[in-house]
Amino acid sequence: MADREFRVVVAGAGVAGLFMAETLKRAGIDFTVYEKAGEVGGTWRDNTFPGLFVDVLSRQYEFPFQPNYNWSRKYAPATEIWAYIKKVAHDRGLTKFIRFNEEVTAARFTGGRWQIETARGNTDTADVFICATGFLHKPLLPDIPGRDSFAGPSFHSARWDHSVPYEGKRWGVIGSGASGVQITEALAWAGCDVTQFIRRAQWVHIRDNPHSTWRERLKLRLPGGYAREQRRLWQMINEGDAWRLYPGPQREAMEREYWSFLDTIKDPELRQKLTPDYNLGCTRIPKSDRNYYQAVQLLNAHIVKGHIDRIEPGGVVMKDGTRVELDVLVYATGFDPHAYMRPMNVTGLNGMTIDEAWKEKIYSYGGIALPGFPNLFMLYGPFSPVNNVPVPLGLDQEIGLIMRLIGKVRARRAAAAPTVAATEKFLARLGAAFPGTVWVGGCKNWYTSAQPTPVLWPFPQSEHKEFFDRAPLEDFEFTPTGQAD
Ligand SMILES: Cc1cc2nc3c(=O)[nH]c(=O)nc-3n(C[C@H](O)[C@H](O)[C@H](O)COP(=O)(O)OP(=O)(O)OC[C@H]3O[C@@H](n4cnc5c(N)ncnc54)[C@H](O)[C@@H]3O)c2cc1C
Repeated sequence: MADREFRVVVAGAGVAGLFMAETLKRAGIDFTVYEKAGEVGGTWRDNTFPGLFVDVLSRQYEFPFQPNYNWSRKYAPATEIWAYIKKVAHDRGLTKFIRFNEEVTAARFTGGRWQIETARGNTDTADVFICATGFLHKPLLPDIPGRDSFAGPSFHSARWDHSVPYEGKRWGVIGSGASGVQITEALAWAGCDVTQFIRRAQWVHIRDNPHSTWRERLKLRLPGGYAREQRRLWQMINEGDAWRLYPGPQREAMEREYWSFLDTIKDPELRQKLTPDYNLGCTRIPKSDRNYYQAVQLLNAHIVKGHIDRIEPGGVVMKDGTRVELDVLVYATGFDPHAYMRPMNVTGLNGMTIDEAWKEKIYSYGGIALPGFPNLFMLYGPFSPVNNVPVPLGLDQEIGLIMRLIGKVRARRAAAAPTVAATEKFLARLGAAFPGTVWVGGCKNWYTSAQPTPVLWPFPQSEHKEFFDRAPLEDFEFTPTGQAD
């Protein structure tokens, strides 16, 4: 294989795929990105529901190679995040590397390279295949009897139907996660009659979201201003991590703050309904920019707690017989977080598929690779930091290691996969870290639901950086591509 033939294929043009694309472009590596939709942006293209704002500081949701001095608010609305991502793709000249409306349906490692197939019937070949397909990408609809019988418009929060007018409709929102909170709050303040159906109350962060001032923007543009601000943000992220992990004074102070938010609900019955029964920090905390607790106290907003028995043409019937008449139904019911690159059919060494590999339990080395699948890398795969950490930051670290591996793979004309021993060591280290954290003992969510070990990164963000900066390449087996399958 001559060096000039070295080639990478990336699936997905969300934040992760674009970050990878820019990095490959800068390294002068030949690559193509396949994107199943007609536009870049992933999450920020698909989720257009009212009330969606980024949950970390806007400044933390930037690609390190493209500062944005112009965020309108401390926490930007989703439309602005999407506009920024599109601008990055345009400014960096990335769109010419992307094949839009072309879904990768299969990838097989054979003859030392990846053979890629797309839904359009095209094929491609690559030395390295990178899945940047998103961890919250595949909408999950609840298995409620009668779901299809609903007479009015009904849609998942990631497929918002903008043709439905807000006014004069009785809205139902199923789900109490971040999307459910933000949608309910937005519809309530818009004056709609809205009922939120919740099984479990969430801790909700009631936060201020001021507009950015010209002073703040100017500060970033002053000599050294941007770098200074980045350092400050990095420190904030590391300090902010500590309370989530183990009990202690920081957690207690945080809990007091959240109780004070709940205490603003005057009606004791409503307050009781919205009081969580699990430790703060167990889930990624929904952020409320327009005071959710005030919104649900409006006369046009209603909270119904319990299990839904069935959906009928005219509304929702609860297990206790309560019936709620509705005109529009929104499923804010989240995503299949463990689908990762599926339904793509990925086949590694000895004909082993990813479904077979993960049949018993989900595993990975650092969230980016797994044994038996040489030169396959994932961005934000299982055990990446998904809890309250800005995703671009985690990506920066993962891409750093992937590029080190690509450098060696390219130089040695080899295929790299983590060894079984290194992967087990990584998983054992994670497993040992969970006792004592908020993620064990009654904490139920998508991180913890798949298997006994929660599928997330249980250490502070600083350790994520350290892990990826220092990961020894000896943790990987490099097989000459001529002998790799
Ligand atoms: C409603 C919502 C709000 C969020 N808010 C925040 C937040 O405030 N802060 C934060 O840090 N994170 C947030 N997240 C997490 C968010 O998903 C990540 O921040 C980030 O956008 C993930 O980027 P990604 O590129 O990995 O995945 P995605 O954005 O999901 O992009 C994946 C891309 O891959 C494409 N694709 C998938 N399969 C294929 C295939 N087989 N072939 C070709 N293309 C394919 C998809 O079409 C998509 O464009 C939020 C997620 C959701 C759902």
